Amino acid sequence: MTGIEELLLSRIRDVADYPEPGVMFKDITPLLADPAAFTALTDALAEVAASTGATKVVGLEARGFILGAPVAVRAGLGFIPVRKAGKLPGATLSQAYDLEYGSAEIEVHAEDLTGDDRVLVVDDVLATGGTAEASIQLIRRAGAQVAGLAVLMELGFLGGRARLEPALAGAPLEAL
Ligand code: AMP
Repeated sequence: MTGIEELLLSRIRDVADYPEPGVMFKDITPLLADPAAFTALTDALAEVAASTGATKVVGLEARGFILGAPVAVRAGLGFIPVRKAGKLPGATLSQAYDLEYGSAEIEVHAEDLTGDDRVLVVDDVLATGGTAEASIQLIRRAGAQVAGLAVLMELGFLGGRARLEPALAGAPLEAL
């Protein structure tokens, strides 16, 4: 494990049975509270943004906002929030996706993405990949290209990476 991996991992708190029994919640608030760790994470994600040739950063509500916004500033790119349905005031594109029980819907302001954009999607945790997959579909439907997906951590046993392969269509998935 590299120094930065050790630093980041040491600042993630495992919370058992949250928000429901059987889930090991990966709490990033200790990392956010540590300026050295938060800066190292931001720099590493900004390097991914540069290496993928991204022109915009999309952050997924809500922790993807906290991580994605400083990455966009550091990389000199625009930031676009992908929000849960009903939160954005302008004309939106919506994408529904299935959850274990029921379904969810995410939205983006249609005017924020153009055919010239290459978008890096940023979030804290990749679990089943459902949220990331829906965001990629949203970006493509807006006419933009997907530069890649960058997350702090991937829960490998849930198979998100394999699920995302068709949607990513060769674009990189970086888990720090
Ligand atoms: P999924 O769509 O299953 O990949 O879930 C991804 C979203 O749920 C991300 O936005 C994560 O922030 C959140 N999430 C899922 N599982 C966890 C977990 N074990 N710890 C923290 N966040 C999680």
